[in-house]
Amino acid sequence: MIYRNYGKTGKSVSAVGFGGMRFESVDDRDTCVDMMVRAAEGGINYFDTAPKYFGTRSEEAFGAGLAELRRRQLPYYLSTKTFESDESAIRREIDGQLTRLGVDHIDFYHIWCITNLDNWRERKANGVLDAFRKLKDEGLIRHICVSSHLIGDQINELLMENVFEGVLFGYSAYNFATRQKAFDAIRAHDLGCVVMNPLGGGLIPNNPDLFSFVKTQENEGVVEAALRFLFAHREISVSLVGFGTSDHVDQAIAAVDGYQPISEAKLDAIKARASASFDGICTGCQYCDGCPEEIPIPKLMDAYNQKLLHGDYESLLNRLKWHWNIPAEEAAKCIECGQCEEACTQHLDITGRLKEIVQAAG
Ligand code: SF4
Ligand code: SF4
Repeated sequence: MIYRNYGKTGKSVSAVGFGGMRFESVDDRDTCVDMMVRAAEGGINYFDTAPKYFGTRSEEAFGAGLAELRRRQLPYYLSTKTFESDESAIRREIDGQLTRLGVDHIDFYHIWCITNLDNWRERKANGVLDAFRKLKDEGLIRHICVSSHLIGDQINELLMENVFEGVLFGYSAYNFATRQKAFDAIRAHDLGCVVMNPLGGGLIPNNPDLFSFVKTQENEGVVEAALRFLFAHREISVSLVGFGTSDHVDQAIAAVDGYQPISEAKLDAIKARASASFDGICTGCQYCDGCPEEIPIPKLMDAYNQKLLHGDYESLLNRLKWHWNIPAEEAAKCIECGQCEEACTQHLDITGRLKEIVQAAG
């Protein structure tokens, strides 16, 4: 396992982290515990969950897993999050989290999912920072962190306020261009940096030929290569992988254990290739869901990915018809209210894409 400093905190964290958002059997407690033990035995010491992953069931599974890690004296750091911003709501939230997780403190506590800078200003005005600082003074949390789906310039602006010790955001071989500006502030303030969604919610493993350019070593698979692309970034402390099964744990540990350093020149070449090929991919995060016209936006945007990946509308329409079983005419219901674009983590021109789909179906 490779270990990296989490900013200035003095904590040394594993280059791969355990993400608790993709358990295939979250209610099978023994399996979840086994996965966490397997990860810790392989050297993973960063474990991340959230109060709304599978309802509260991911945190509950983590509670059982962490108890077993302590019993076996396997070291770990715990990360979780809250959407709340006023002190009394944060207190209620963290009380429940500490109970579910079976711990007396959280190492990395995140102000969760800043969607835009106005949202950040609103949460600050509600007192979120003061509340977090009190929790830290009381020893209930160790470090004040933030997670965000902003684009890189905005994350940079957020972090330049220098009130956080670390940051979590989505970053991978296909969407790095929208986020890499954040590294300016991370370097300037020596912050911890955790990246999530390194495999694009399955997009990379499901298109191994298209992403083969990320490979830098003999006989490596595209998943290992996509993770190693992240390890090559010196600013990234932890690459968080949402593990579904024990096999996923083993694969990620093998990726880090077999990592051979990638030169800056090679990294730049991979980025140049990806920028030319994959700008504007939808990651399937579903933050845009909830359209007032009930348009299934994530499915339509997934289909649009096929056009970006294969360069033709036929792939898009086939995906809609055979994979999703959705008539392309659904896209015509859009009234351009803008709600989905406001929520989109990748800042995509969703309404423009819907129009293209309507035209393509013509
Ligand atoms: S802009 Fe269109 S697709 Fe997006 S939420 Fe509004 S109606 Fe739905
Ligand atoms: S359109 Fe944007 S918000 Fe919706 S699933 Fe894709 S990346 Fe996520």
